[in-house]
Amino acid sequence: MSNKKWVMLPMLALLVLGLWPQSRSNAAGEQLFVETGWRVGGHVLEFWQRSGGLAVFGLPLGPEQRERTGDGTYALQRFERARVELHPEKRAPYNVELGRVGADLLARQQRNWSSEIDEQLLTGQCRSFPETGRQVCGPFLDYWLSHGLDLGDEGVSYRESLALFGLPLTGTRMETNSSGDRVITQWFERARFEYHPKNPQPYTVLLGRLGAELSGEPPPLPQPAIAILPQTSILQGHTLTVEVKSSEATGVSGMLGSTALAFTRRDGSWLAIGAVHGLQQPGPLQVRVEAALADGRTATGRATIQVIDAGYPVEYINLPPDVRDSIANNREALEAENARVRAIWPVVTPQRLWNGRFIMPTEGVLVSSYGGRRSYNGGPVSSFHEGIDIANAVGTPIIAPAAGNVVLAGTGFIARGGAVILDHGWGIHTGYWHMEEVLVSEGQFVEQGQVIGLMGARGMVTGPHLHWELRIGPHSADPLEWINREWPPSQPGSRGKAMPR
Ligand SMILES: [Zn+2]
Repeated sequence: MSNKKWVMLPMLALLVLGLWPQSRSNAAGEQLFVETGWRVGGHVLEFWQRSGGLAVFGLPLGPEQRERTGDGTYALQRFERARVELHPEKRAPYNVELGRVGADLLARQQRNWSSEIDEQLLTGQCRSFPETGRQVCGPFLDYWLSHGLDLGDEGVSYRESLALFGLPLTGTRMETNSSGDRVITQWFERARFEYHPKNPQPYTVLLGRLGAELSGEPPPLPQPAIAILPQTSILQGHTLTVEVKSSEATGVSGMLGSTALAFTRRDGSWLAIGAVHGLQQPGPLQVRVEAALADGRTATGRATIQVIDAGYPVEYINLPPDVRDSIANNREALEAENARVRAIWPVVTPQRLWNGRFIMPTEGVLVSSYGGRRSYNGGPVSSFHEGIDIANAVGTPIIAPAAGNVVLAGTGFIARGGAVILDHGWGIHTGYWHMEEVLVSEGQFVEQGQVIGLMGARGMVTGPHLHWELRIGPHSADPLEWINREWPPSQPGSRGKAMPR
């Protein structure tokens, strides 16, 4: 018990000094090993990649943490075949060392190895190690000499091999390995060599999983179950929800294609609403999720949705000369306006402010649907319609289709005229452009049905109408889908095909 307290204190001290995060924020980045759910980062990852990777060290079996070993207390990380110890007081490449897992495991087995007789089961060239009175022969010597830590020497030097495997502690003898095979075995300070003569080269010498034998095999990693609602085939520019069922998860993150999903905990599962981009290529699109578990591991899961071509028409728009002049004369202001609006969409307010279906924000004629590909004044199809246009007389009231906070309200926007953006929570925003008058102000909370402005023909328009758009994170989606049904869907639909990693 006293050990634990003692271990905690230096970690706190390091945190205060700002030393601890250094290895994590290193430029080498971080890698998640989905097989065991642990991440490797910074100096350890650099070291792992440079000095042999999977074959030499195996997978990570725990986080980077301060721990007491047979040699002292270090920041270290355990792998299947090694224990990587950090020594920030030393300069690179000596700031990363390997623990003496071979010696530790022999000690744990209380094996009196120093008095064991070498059965000399391998023939070939031998090398004597007077420090321990042992010799290494044949294929084991070839392996020992041809592998090493990269300390900057030419080829693989003696000291580099020594740094990787250490000195031989035992001679050769037949032992039963963890797979139950009887194999010629020799123990080193940091490794256990096993001879498998029937294997093809270069697999005749294999390294024992000493790290795993020391720390114990990890419990199986639970795979989060992923459900896609309302179905796994989604039209371009349409909405979906991703539900992750994981009772153990303390946090869930995920991606729909290359777009981040924002998850919220709901009862025993985690839910995110996403939108398939209006121009997304039809075909399969990956959903990837990462669930953080209480024990520090990360469980990953994948599902695939099928993106269906929505068959959006191409619209040829002729902007009147005064609108074209306005674009040409206000490039900088337009850029600033677009940047201001773009910065709002990715903001995720954790609290959900809407409930049930949205209602239409105004009355009038639907003159342009969502998704139409647009060519302006005979030019190429360069964009698409990211909302719907409802036309009526100037002064027609515009109401909030759902409760939300006003995060943008103003008149005189070059392209958008009088404009309002509502934040409904969970990364869902709605925008209202071209208004004659704006009747709400930023920071105000509005109820569903509350008047927010009056229809107009302000900004870059050809006539009075409301342009209404709905955004899920950075992507627009057809807002009519939020009037026709409730989001998130309350009825369970088809399940996403959860695949093994
Ligand atoms: Zn529009």
